[in-house]
Amino acid sequence: MNKKGFLRKTKQREVILSVLRSTKSHPTADWVYQEVRKEMPNISLGTIYRNLKILTEMGEATELSYGSTYSRFDGNAEEHYHFVCESCDNVFDIDMPIIEELEREVEAKMGVKVSRHRLEFYGKCEECLAKETEQKKNLAN
Ligand code: ZN
Ligand code: MN
Repeated sequence: MNKKGFLRKTKQREVILSVLRSTKSHPTADWVYQEVRKEMPNISLGTIYRNLKILTEMGEATELSYGSTYSRFDGNAEEHYHFVCESCDNVFDIDMPIIEELEREVEAKMGVKVSRHRLEFYGKCEECLAKETEQKKNLAN
């Protein structure tokens, strides 16, 4: 690849990462594509996918798949837990420290060396709970 081609690729990756980091919503590749296109109209969805994969391999992003049809991406490279709303499919960061003791426990139990762990909680988000309460109120009237 010549220098110009290399610089273009670097620039693309920078824009994709900054778009990913601009949101806390854990977007799909398609959402990232729509946003990046505002700045780089000629970019293709394939390029977005390729770069998201590279960013994930570089440890700059995380790919989250929760058995849904498409993956979501997280530009927050710090380890953190997630809450997944089963009603609206939104994924939220949980602001609490990683439980290191869990890793020690697994190591002691299995004789392994744990390097990291992921934890997801499922249920109904605050907004969906509020909607539900509202609906119940309306039904009662
Ligand atoms: Zn929800
Ligand atoms: Mn996250």
